[in-house]
Amino acid sequence: MRNDFDALHEKIRKGEIEREEAVFLANKPSLLFGVADELRREERGEEVTYVVNRNINFTNVCLGNCKFCAFRVRAGEKRGREKGYFLSQEEVLNKVEEAVNAGATEICIQGGLHPYLTLPDYCGILEEIKSQFDVHLHAFSPMEIFHAATGTGSGVSEEEVLKELKNAGLGSIPGTAAEILDDSVRERICPSKIRTEKWVEIIRTAHRLGIPTTATMLYGHIETLENRVDHLFKIREIQKETGGFTEFVPLKFMRQNNELGRTVRCEADFLESAVVHALARVILHPWCVNVQASWVKLGVSEAQRMLDFGANDLGGTLMEESISRLSGAVAGEYLRPEEFERLIKDAGRTPRQRSTLYKIFE
Ligand code: SF4
Repeated sequence: MRNDFDALHEKIRKGEIEREEAVFLANKPSLLFGVADELRREERGEEVTYVVNRNINFTNVCLGNCKFCAFRVRAGEKRGREKGYFLSQEEVLNKVEEAVNAGATEICIQGGLHPYLTLPDYCGILEEIKSQFDVHLHAFSPMEIFHAATGTGSGVSEEEVLKELKNAGLGSIPGTAAEILDDSVRERICPSKIRTEKWVEIIRTAHRLGIPTTATMLYGHIETLENRVDHLFKIREIQKETGGFTEFVPLKFMRQNNELGRTVRCEADFLESAVVHALARVILHPWCVNVQASWVKLGVSEAQRMLDFGANDLGGTLMEESISRLSGAVAGEYLRPEEFERLIKDAGRTPRQRSTLYKIFE
């Protein structure tokens, strides 16, 4: 057994772990956690990063039917107490101004798939902000890129969309809408969302055009361990080829106020989340060195504890986060930089404020 693990350890260190070995390791948490922590220490040392940013969800009106979503509202309808909204340019700019004045270096913009949104609308949001503020724009998931390409009056390729958005000031893309990169799971949890192949194609195209992205995975619903492992291997393959992912972010499924939540008995517990973060560190080594623990999904104290299980980044201050809140997240909508500093120091590590692309601010 010891010799077997020594051989596997060697393969992991060389970035050569295989699928079945990853599944084996996920079932041996004590071995997995040790290797994940060792790799994190070697790759990222004792520094823990965070970014000062603001989320702007510019519309909640959406054509989609993702079963895990508590955010969307159909055009002209109400969902509980939530009404459909579409922020005006002025409202968006006010939010950006507030964020920049509070020290934000990144604005993260995502929204629902509004039926009348066109590519010029998406570009317009970026151009307006860029004309007034020097801030990094991290915007529009691959699903939104697809919507911009195929929506009302568009009919252009996703590559064209990405080029236009880049010209309009896009700095990077959130790798959301990945959920689980397996079509049999997607069919059940997000039937109208782009399929695995399209997500991968849009991400690869973005990377080829020099637009970095993050990578995410929604875990803790109907997916199996094998689905998670396969998802991570897909991310690894893309990263080996393009190097365009800045980080990997596991996102825990939250069960409140959504259809999928009614069929999932309980949310992922601490151990399950720790295994997911540690697996990400081990499978993605040495190709993707940043693993983020999302305080919004996990809660602040669980996110802090993930730093011992492979994570080296705590994400952003956010200032406004309505998507997870509506699904039952209770961690709040804003974590101030001082709170990040305290959390990280309390974990015995060194806090570092970073840019979206992981440049450290001294
Ligand atoms: S997750 Fe996004 S695309 Fe899916 S229904 Fe919700 S807002 Fe729409």
